[in-house]
Amino acid sequence: MIFQQYFEPVTCSFSYLIARRRGGEALLVDPLRDQMDLYLDRLARLDLRLVKAVDTHLHADHVTALGGLRRRTGCTTMMGAPTRCELVDLRLQDEEVIDVDGLKLRALHTPGHTADSFCFVAADFVLTGDTLLIHGTGRTDFEDGDAGAQYDSLHGKLLHLPEETLVYPGHDYKGRKISSIAEERALNPRLNVGSREAYIELMAGLDLPPPRQMAVAVPANLMLGLPARRRGAVGGAGRARA
Ligand code: FE
Repeated sequence: MIFQQYFEPVTCSFSYLIARRRGGEALLVDPLRDQMDLYLDRLARLDLRLVKAVDTHLHADHVTALGGLRRRTGCTTMMGAPTRCELVDLRLQDEEVIDVDGLKLRALHTPGHTADSFCFVAADFVLTGDTLLIHGTGRTDFEDGDAGAQYDSLHGKLLHLPEETLVYPGHDYKGRKISSIAEERALNPRLNVGSREAYIELMAGLDLPPPRQMAVAVPANLMLGLPARRRGAVGGAGRARA
């Protein structure tokens, strides 16, 4: 299997390239528009054909590459069914399986950070987006965030995964790259607050500043990261520069 984790240092975001074999099909998870060239370079070097690209949720801190990748590679763009983005090709349902060359990822609806948050579960790892971070959880204080729903997603779904499952998050702000369900159960302070009510209270008291790029990123991501002037040119031939 090919599994690459990319880090974007401005917003401390991770994206992931997954494929079963060199020369086969590939999936990108949470690709950033600013890293398009990196993805296209890696796909070419590994002789991979990008067939699918998915965002774990509508991002507020960076602009997605989904629209750009669709234009450049013809891939199918996907987001969770509740997404407010109307340009996405396929809306994933809870428990829907994403198949890439026989490599299967199960889509798990985990609302809380946003209403459209999904995690993607493979045989021995899970991509947790901003639902579960390393020793933390995604904030729930903007857009359609809901701390109670996030508690339910964590304790009712994610933490039921086998303890040895590796955890690859959507962000890390302290240089960490990987965790596991066992490690998070033991060391994540947000998972050990005692009750749903206590978790809601904890999340309400975080008092975080809004994401710096939020006013730009959310409207852009509602357009799948495509520049406004090209909205009418999706799929059009040669009308705009890359
Ligand atoms: Fe997020």
